[in-house]
Amino acid sequence: MSASGFPVTAEHDLAWIEAPHPNDELHRRIGVMGGTFDPIHHGHLVAASEVQHRFGLDEVIFVPTGEPPYKQEREVSPAEYRYLMTVIATASNARFSVSRVDIDRPGLTYTIDTLRDLREIYPDDEFFFITGADVLPQILDWKDASELWELAHFVGVSRPGHSIASNGLPPDRVTVIEVPAMAISSTDVRERERIGVPIWYLVPDGVVQYIRKYGLYSPSRIPRVSQPGRAARQRQGR
Ligand code: ATP
Ligand code: MG
Repeated sequence: MSASGFPVTAEHDLAWIEAPHPNDELHRRIGVMGGTFDPIHHGHLVAASEVQHRFGLDEVIFVPTGEPPYKQEREVSPAEYRYLMTVIATASNARFSVSRVDIDRPGLTYTIDTLRDLREIYPDDEFFFITGADVLPQILDWKDASELWELAHFVGVSRPGHSIASNGLPPDRVTVIEVPAMAISSTDVRERERIGVPIWYLVPDGVVQYIRKYGLYSPSRIPRVSQPGRAARQRQGR
């Protein structure tokens, strides 16, 4: 039980939800991890890996946002950069994949649209939406919140010792689990890169190299190559 009263589920309590359907290949269990991923870091990857293991998920789909509605106070890197960093970071894990549904949909990104689009692609599968537990209370304010619970089970990942407010969340559709403490945030990675502090080991090596290649987060760094996807879009007249 967390300090605020929301039950933090211990590993042995997950048996009911964890047991994969035997021989049931028609109904797969799919984790959905939405995020700005500007950049993706090891906190995201550890959380996804932990939920994949504890819930017996067949796959975890990372979904980089298009234009995030709650982040308009700062400039978010173009979607193609964030998408490709997410591909690089997840490429070595056979259970991880990346979806373009949010970045290819015009307008602001809302989780309800993410889940509706994925439901069309995977009509028979069960979704587990993975999010930082601190975000859980905000879900009640998200677009079409009541429909969200029908589309997915919500898994809040919490660092040990963090309390989570449970008011109004449906307990049968939300599980909070603890993942190993990882005090990594994209904000911190961007700031470190901006001031020249190492970001190695906070993000995968390939992501460090990608950030340097395109001069992301560091205004003084000259990119060696132009923005990915731009040439192709210009050719298509977009
Ligand atoms: P920013 O600092 O720009 O807000 P972030 O590090 O929070 O970035 P997001 O892309 O906003 O990364 O997060 C995507 C999802 O991953 C969110 O649900 C967020 O709560 C969760 N998350 C972010 N950092 C961690 C972490 N260190 N451990 C576990 N989950 C995390
Ligand atoms: Mg965040």
